[in-house]
Amino acid sequence: MAAETTAQHSQTGGCYCGKVRYAITERPLVKGQCHCRACQYMAGGAPQYFLLVPPTGFAWTRGRPASYQRQDVPNSVTRQFCPECGTQLVTRRQDNPAIVVKVGTLDDASRFSPRVAICHAQAQPFHHVPDGVPIFDDLPPG
Ligand SMILES: [Zn+2]
Ligand SMILES: [Zn+2]
Repeated sequence: MAAETTAQHSQTGGCYCGKVRYAITERPLVKGQCHCRACQYMAGGAPQYFLLVPPTGFAWTRGRPASYQRQDVPNSVTRQFCPECGTQLVTRRQDNPAIVVKVGTLDDASRFSPRVAICHAQAQPFHHVPDGVPIFDDLPPG
């Protein structure tokens, strides 16, 4: 039973060059798209599609990422990326242990669909939110 559940939620991914790989073994807490300005830098101008994964359900399986955290911004996030090819893999927040995994790094992203759009106050006019997906100007309450 437990094994089945794990298999059902198992996903793997990694960076563009293959040097850093990870596995997800638990059901994501949130599937969404973030329109904040910082995500636009990381995603080529698009919103960033993400899974919020419990820390117990995420592990590096090959290589290790480099980390970057802005020192001039209070409570800044830590961004982890491949030291070789630069692909953004995950973000870690100071106020939440859950891990923000970038959907573009999943081996199979075709099962993904966003269930929430966040930080939409910073969205560009060309950003798209699918019909029926709730939109929040900032982060959703809680
Ligand atoms: Zn790489
Ligand atoms: Zn964002």
